Amino acid sequence: MKQKFFIGIDVGGTKIAAAAVSANGKILSRKKIATPPASKPSAILKLIISLVDQVLVESGLPMQNLGGLGLGLPGIVDKNNHILATPNIDLAGFPLCEKLKKKFRVKIAAGNDVNLGLLGEQWLGAGQKADDIIGIFPGTGVGGAIIIDDKLVTGTQGAAAEIGHMIMMMDGPRCNCGNHGCLEAFAGRWAIERDIRAAMQKGRKSLISGLMDGKQGPIKSKFLKNALAAKDPITVDVMTRAAKTLGLACINVRHIFNPQLIILGGGVIEACGDFLLPIINKTFHTDPFFAKIDKCKIVTSKLGDDAVILGAVALVKK
Ligand SMILES: [Zn+2]
Repeated sequence: MKQKFFIGIDVGGTKIAAAAVSANGKILSRKKIATPPASKPSAILKLIISLVDQVLVESGLPMQNLGGLGLGLPGIVDKNNHILATPNIDLAGFPLCEKLKKKFRVKIAAGNDVNLGLLGEQWLGAGQKADDIIGIFPGTGVGGAIIIDDKLVTGTQGAAAEIGHMIMMMDGPRCNCGNHGCLEAFAGRWAIERDIRAAMQKGRKSLISGLMDGKQGPIKSKFLKNALAAKDPITVDVMTRAAKTLGLACINVRHIFNPQLIILGGGVIEACGDFLLPIINKTFHTDPFFAKIDKCKIVTSKLGDDAVILGAVALVKK
């Protein structure tokens, strides 16, 4: 019998990426394409089909060896592959998996992209050989994922593991989800930007405008990194608070799940981890409860952009 291979697809609001992957996780061919703004579900389906076709041709492998398609989607996906909510792309309620199954006649499995990213890290990245892992991923927002007893914890509707919306402060700053005081409202990139701009508006001096070359757009993670390197006082203060809040969130999840590993990733950690991690760890180790029995390590993710694609393959392989 010929060796099976799989296709992993990372569907996002700004781009869709697909790769053919061997059964042991080697990427054989890959393609990505921008998601046109305001795409209709049928247009997104067409894009995915064309990406899969291109990846198949480029891999040079015969279709009959394709073991399945795995999809990471930016929203809530239940255990039956039904897409319940996707805030940044128009796919909610659309029978994407059924349509792909009809077209390719292989096994299809879909899941939340952040959850699959952690599954990818468990298979081939920072979480190998661990069965109890929590993932916290501060990018624009703060994604979360939970693997306990070697299984993703997804909840009744697939909406579990929203660690970013764990409320860290009563009556705290308003979050994008509508609640107040969420982890994301302190440690998401948008919240960090909000706090830096608020301090500047109060008249505190900051180097950050100069570091952005006069650009008016969002304060991206790379600008935060430059501002930290230049010891910009506002950025240092705001990001110290973000890091302390992340450290407290790590304490919370350790109390609830007693994990072996907490994996931190996402754009803010990738750019500013050198500054954030020592503060997160210091805060984490202020917890007297686990002082004598601590076995939980905080580590950083390893797979970057490939985590979701590889996790989608891990899901469909299971
Ligand atoms: Zn929230």
